Amino acid sequence: MKQSTHFETLAIHAGRPVDPTSGAITPPLVFSTTFERATDGSFPTGFSYGRTDNPGRRALEDCIAALEGGGRAFCFASGSAAVTATFSLLKPGDHLRAPAECYHGTLTQIRTLFATHGIEFSLFEARDAANLEHQLRPNTRLIWVETPSNPLLGVSDIAAIARLAHARGARLAIDSTFATPLAQRPLDLGADLVVHSTTKYFGGHSDVTGGAVIVRDAELAKELVNRQVLGGAVPSPFDCWLIRRSIATLPIRFRAQSETAGRVAEYLAKSPRVEKVYYPGLPTHATHELARRQMRYHGAIVSFCVPGAASEALSMAARLQLFTRATSLGGIESLVEHRASIEGPTTRTPQNLLRLSIGLEHVEDLIADLAQALGHV
Ligand SMILES: *Cc1c(COP(=O)(O)O)cnc(C)c1O
Repeated sequence: MKQSTHFETLAIHAGRPVDPTSGAITPPLVFSTTFERATDGSFPTGFSYGRTDNPGRRALEDCIAALEGGGRAFCFASGSAAVTATFSLLKPGDHLRAPAECYHGTLTQIRTLFATHGIEFSLFEARDAANLEHQLRPNTRLIWVETPSNPLLGVSDIAAIARLAHARGARLAIDSTFATPLAQRPLDLGADLVVHSTTKYFGGHSDVTGGAVIVRDAELAKELVNRQVLGGAVPSPFDCWLIRRSIATLPIRFRAQSETAGRVAEYLAKSPRVEKVYYPGLPTHATHELARRQMRYHGAIVSFCVPGAASEALSMAARLQLFTRATSLGGIESLVEHRASIEGPTTRTPQNLLRLSIGLEHVEDLIADLAQALGHV
């Protein structure tokens, strides 16, 4: 049973044995920062110090690695810390290629923390491998891709970009936060690193921040151990416990939220009071065909534009009653956000765009709320 490769079963059992000392079904929460040595100085349980490793983090990492079909997962205190660990694999003089359209915090991080330390970096526009090929340099060492992307849900061809990266001696890292392993497993498609903000779907209840990097390559794993343990941006035992607990319902939540999001996207696409809808599951979406091939579900994020400018989008958001105006995504409650306000003056996000994160409420209630805010009732 525990050898299963089914997500639902792994989400319950991977890294979650019955506690051998107490028989507890629920993993005990171990806060200890230090662990007893044997008389010969060794560590009989394998645990020595909380930052290095601890039972709760080990359990979480084993589970995430199993879900991603990866060799090792490394958990961090936030998605941003996982992103930092990945970029810190680069050395001065290396070139990093990242998409112009991705989570704004990632681009800000590159500009603020890495471009100032001798990492060359440039942004690519087109999402397809054919265009990307001309944009690589001899010193390109890492291609960063976020798919689907924030906030326009653009889907990139992971397998094609992985082939291109490897032909040029570069690594491919996929920020798969919007997909989760339920929708896509980038390592199976040839990516070298998968990055998640586990604050989002993995945590799923908007009550814990976290991040993870998953790799198969043993050399890469060694480099990441250093980033995690020496860098020290590790999650607390309670953070790990919360995320591990939430993963048990991740397959069911993600499926249900994706299904509701698909219905919401269809509803919005039919409304004459909506200018444009961005959802990979819609046949009208620019990268729908690729999404159909690459993703098992299309996720719970739906972006849409209302006619007009920022003020029209903001007043639409203000009229919503069931959707809470807040940042973040992937939680059980539906949220709405005006991304352009958050991203600031350099944003490329349309001013009339709202991003929805669809939660677990009943689909008819969500659609009714959107209908009244759009003025259909
Ligand atoms: C939220 C997010 C991050 C950053 O994660 P934090 O947990 O907020 O640090 C990175 N990438 C994507 C796609 C995100 O949505």
